[in-house]
Amino acid sequence: MPAELTQVELEPAPLDRYRDLLDRQDWEATTGALRALGAATSGHVIWNLNSTPRGGGVAELLGALLPYELGAGIDARWVAIEGSPDFFAFTKRLHRLLHGDDPDGTQVDDEEKRAYESTLAENAEALRKRMRPGDVVVAHDPQVAGLVPALKEHGCTVIWRCHIGADQPSPAARQAWDLLRPYLAPADAIVFSRRAYVWEGLDNARVEVIPPCIDAFSPKNRDLDQATVDDALRKTGVAPDGLPVVLQVSRWDRLKDPVGVLEGFAEHVAPGAEGRLVLAGPEIKAVADDPEEPEVWRRLEARWRQLPEEVRGRICLAQLPMDDEDENATLVNALQRRAQVVVQKSLAEGFGLTVAEAMWKARPVVASRVGGIGDQVEDGVGGILVDDPHDLRAFGEAVLRLLRDRQLAERLGIGARQRIRSEFLASRHLRQQAALIVDLIR
Ligand code: UDP
Repeated sequence: MPAELTQVELEPAPLDRYRDLLDRQDWEATTGALRALGAATSGHVIWNLNSTPRGGGVAELLGALLPYELGAGIDARWVAIEGSPDFFAFTKRLHRLLHGDDPDGTQVDDEEKRAYESTLAENAEALRKRMRPGDVVVAHDPQVAGLVPALKEHGCTVIWRCHIGADQPSPAARQAWDLLRPYLAPADAIVFSRRAYVWEGLDNARVEVIPPCIDAFSPKNRDLDQATVDDALRKTGVAPDGLPVVLQVSRWDRLKDPVGVLEGFAEHVAPGAEGRLVLAGPEIKAVADDPEEPEVWRRLEARWRQLPEEVRGRICLAQLPMDDEDENATLVNALQRRAQVVVQKSLAEGFGLTVAEAMWKARPVVASRVGGIGDQVEDGVGGILVDDPHDLRAFGEAVLRLLRDRQLAERLGIGARQRIRSEFLASRHLRQQAALIVDLIR
């Protein structure tokens, strides 16, 4: 049976919104790059492939970028592939291996590999009916890496993009690299989010580094007035009073360490300052490509129940409704604006869009120095970095400092916004990827 593909509906957006945010040189470079991309891909489609129409960083990134390509007259489309629960359990494992995380230490066996390939063969069949030779494909993350050979054979220009990586190569990461490398051999280019994530054994001439970005004008990031923030939050009931809020927004993933955030807050923040902790994430089951979420949630809730009542009452675990994407995004936006401190205590992180989102809202951030977080936050300028992501005391003390020292919090917030404006907005990403595609087509 050929797979059922989900094409995500997108509305074009005018790049003109960015004119006032950019200096003249960046503005002209961005419009010029999109014009060149439009000319180079005229009559063809740029397909983005991933595994889920919503939830997580890749979906967020595509939602931030494609509307501007459409607005520039480029035929950009986004298709999410189909897979069984077993397929997604396996790709989740690949995902963790790429992060260097190897909880069960077992080797991937041939049967798993065959199942991965046969699921992707079904998807490739359905995709080939829609794609034409000369189209461009940007395939995101390990879930779709195995599609590269079939789409190259079909005559497409194919870019594979890897959003995850390990700060240090490890046996776990190497296992994933060895498994995926053969699929990527025919790719025209392989894009990583950070230089440190580039694998061993790739042809350097085909490797590019493009850090992710956020869209300043999306429902997630656009300016909100106080009434809208209050209104959105009233519906959730998560911050019912004027007390300071410490916030982490994440999928329910072990590597985001929600239990560590809870314990760090309970042991090292709550005794020293007023305030609440909000751990917010998607409604469980809404993100279909992550089979581990229910278990992570169950453990978190069990740990929360064990806390003494006094501190438990100050910690809110919030599953945000996912039925309406804009509503979910506005809620996250409002929560981030409401927070005095935004934390991202990840044990590993590809890039960490939640960090960029908070920084853009001039929130001071306390985050682990892992993955792309260290690229975004300059310690002491745009936030506070915690070197050891397992160090609950250091984490708690950094949060306490910001809750107690408003001037410091404000200064870091201003530095944070400045950093995102200069490095991590959609305009920069649009320029870089457009230049790459134009180059490949040439
Ligand atoms: N997100 C969301 N609602 C949630 C949880 C997360 O919209 O309930 C968004 C979050 O705002 C961010 C993205 O999902 O834009 C997560 O990206 P990130 O790079 O932080 O982590 P990933 O999920 O890709 O590991």
